[in-house]
Amino acid sequence: MLDKDFIYESPKLTVEALKQAIVSKLVFDIGRSAQEATTRDWLNATVYAVRDFVAEGWIQTVNQFREEKTRRVYYLSMEFLMGRVLSNAMLSEGVYDTAKQALSELGLVLEDILEKEADPGLGNGGLGRLAACFMDSIATCNLPGMGYGIRYEYGMFKQTIEDGSQVEKPDAWIAKGAPWEFTRASKRYRVRFGGNLHFEGEKCIWTPSEEITALAYDNIVPGYETKSAATLRLWTANAGDIFNLANFNKGDYFGAIEERSSIENVSRVLYPDDSTWAGRELRLRQEYFLVSASLQDIIKRHKKFHGGKIANLADKVAIHLNDTHPALAIPELMHILVDQEGISWKKAWDMTRRIFSYTCHTLMSEALETWPIELMAKVLPRHLQMIYEINAEFLEYVRTYVSADVDFIRRVSLIEEGNQRKVRMGWLSVVGSHKVNGVAEIHSDLMVSSTFADFAKIYPERFTNVTNGVTPRRWIGVANPKLAALFDKYIGTEWRKDLSQLSLLKPYIGKPEIIGELAKIKFANKKRLARYVKNTLDIEINPNAIFDVQVKRIHEYKRQILNVLQIISRYNQMIANPEKNWQSRVFILAGKAASAYYTAKQTIRLINDIAEVINNDERLKGRLKVVFIPNYSVSIAEIIIPAADISEQISLAGTEASGTSNMKFALNGALTLGTLDGANVEILENVGEDNIFIFGNTVEQVEELRRNGYSPVTFYQQDEELRQAVDQIALGHFSPKEPTRYQGLIDSLRNYDYYQSFADFRSYADMQAKVDEKYQDQAAWFNSTLENIANMGFFSSDRTILEYAERIWKIKPLKLEN
Ligand SMILES: *Cc1c(COP(=O)(O)O)cnc(C)c1O
Repeated sequence: MLDKDFIYESPKLTVEALKQAIVSKLVFDIGRSAQEATTRDWLNATVYAVRDFVAEGWIQTVNQFREEKTRRVYYLSMEFLMGRVLSNAMLSEGVYDTAKQALSELGLVLEDILEKEADPGLGNGGLGRLAACFMDSIATCNLPGMGYGIRYEYGMFKQTIEDGSQVEKPDAWIAKGAPWEFTRASKRYRVRFGGNLHFEGEKCIWTPSEEITALAYDNIVPGYETKSAATLRLWTANAGDIFNLANFNKGDYFGAIEERSSIENVSRVLYPDDSTWAGRELRLRQEYFLVSASLQDIIKRHKKFHGGKIANLADKVAIHLNDTHPALAIPELMHILVDQEGISWKKAWDMTRRIFSYTCHTLMSEALETWPIELMAKVLPRHLQMIYEINAEFLEYVRTYVSADVDFIRRVSLIEEGNQRKVRMGWLSVVGSHKVNGVAEIHSDLMVSSTFADFAKIYPERFTNVTNGVTPRRWIGVANPKLAALFDKYIGTEWRKDLSQLSLLKPYIGKPEIIGELAKIKFANKKRLARYVKNTLDIEINPNAIFDVQVKRIHEYKRQILNVLQIISRYNQMIANPEKNWQSRVFILAGKAASAYYTAKQTIRLINDIAEVINNDERLKGRLKVVFIPNYSVSIAEIIIPAADISEQISLAGTEASGTSNMKFALNGALTLGTLDGANVEILENVGEDNIFIFGNTVEQVEELRRNGYSPVTFYQQDEELRQAVDQIALGHFSPKEPTRYQGLIDSLRNYDYYQSFADFRSYADMQAKVDEKYQDQAAWFNSTLENIANMGFFSSDRTILEYAERIWKIKPLKLEN
């Protein structure tokens, strides 16, 4: 995939030189002697030493982009779930072993130091992690691109479990020091809110009432074995010079200062909602904060390198919207071009549409952003005005060229009418972009046939698919070094940059030697996870059992409840027939629930309640365990995923846009147990039906059930095992101290079961029995995992990002100078 020319000759860094560099950083940058240094001091010293290597190539890449005046992409995302940096950076620079040795000679253990690094949780889940994989791929593929996001002071909350329930604690990641960042004191922009509008002739003048300063912090994202590195620029709201302009001008100095803390909130905390939408004012301000600071920065850079010209902006700049969260960039760019640069509306709109592209991440209506008109009028009056004008022009076009049907016009209007009028951010994103993509084939198809069906009639050429991927550097290289070494041994090291090379493993399918090695690696990773579980939860789990894993955000559509029902049913069968030769299983679940999402929090509690009963039932003789691992995050995913035998991807068909953990698991040798949803469909196509466990209704069957009035009670009455499990939960079998604890949860399932868990229960439970059966033949099992891995090469985020580059952004990899 990548040219040989790009392979980076890692510097012949000696252990001695690195040792000296680390000690020198410790003394001169941190101000500690080796005797008094804490593990964190050593971590920071090591980071600074490694950072120097990365920074060298980074500065060169940035310069080269500048000199070549090449077209670039800017990836705007409210979330970047980057994970820890150091081990990935060391592997990228080819200095991992050198550092291990250097630290060992200093009397330190590299792994202990790595554990100390904070895991910045600047994202919720899949969407933020995708952005992180994309940054890694942009850097590795030498693409001229940069990410923009918010440097939340508090990222995703830290989850603890108390009495079985989720408790949220703030994650003050910056307080531990952020040694990777470069503060850009000179990059500061003013972001304005509120105020009012007046017209001078045709010209609209916006007089904002508040102003805050955005400060830039740069994070280097190293490319793998390339000098190239990408920049992730994160904005923070600065308290230093923010004040309420109106108050200040009235001479109310104190009132102006008072506003400080509330305004600074803009970059204070990440909203912990995933796949749902919470229409809060602060969130709107955050979105605009990101958009305004980033666009000012992009335009300033463009002008600097193009002789102050803005007319060629659309030739040189592509801006990508990761979901609708940064969609205000569309009216913001119009505001800049029309109000500030004096470009005609028509020309500005043409440029805007050539610049923007947008990824849709959902189909579910509860995730679609809409902002009440009153709120937008208050916070961003000029932008609302712009949106009205865009809408008027758009609807005129629709009436003239597509349909004058009133219903159609009402449906596609950027403004939703009703008691409370709202701006539809998804519609705005489609209208203001030249390409709109879904994230897996099935999702892109459904996007065109459901959510955006009307728009597909208006702009058929605009819609496309780019199936997600994950970075093999982190999800194999960092997370599963033993498996990485196995690949290196059999197929060489190129797979890290060209994952399609995993197909070179195909000749080894059926060969006992490699299959034995694969089994050993899985066992070692399971032991590693078992140790983690023992240390953090004091639960013993048996690495010879099947490790059956469902880790992801807790959400009804992801159906953790279906997993729970199946676990309870298995438990009941084992208790009814304890002498049978049961296959041992460990069910591992993890994930955070949005703090205001009651059903999701109840689900966590239920998992912990059933774990308590099952793990302490001696009749099972340890053959069944349930473990809920707290605080799911990138670093915990790196421990869990390589240890999985079964990857649970059991969302209701038509609800999961793509999923990416499904890819991480399959690459690490777990077999997928899943529905025909999201990228599971493409995983099936790639690995073949003998190497995956597919169950449940298809999208068509789900829709048919819904059309015909889905009745969960019918399934409940027909299936005795299901009924028993449901009744046990309802009657407090797992919550004897509070028997009615799950009454509401169960009532809602029996009466509505919106995500049709009952309908899929039987085929799920039957497929789980097939899993047990297949696991009996270990050779066949591991042969399947090998065949699985060998066919997963498609799911690299390098392939994904090169598709975006070629088909959407029209940018090319840079030929690096030596
Ligand atoms: C990959 C990943 C996700 C996404 O998981 P899905 O199962 O695709 O929803 C969420 N959180 C973390 C920490 C991840 O690494």
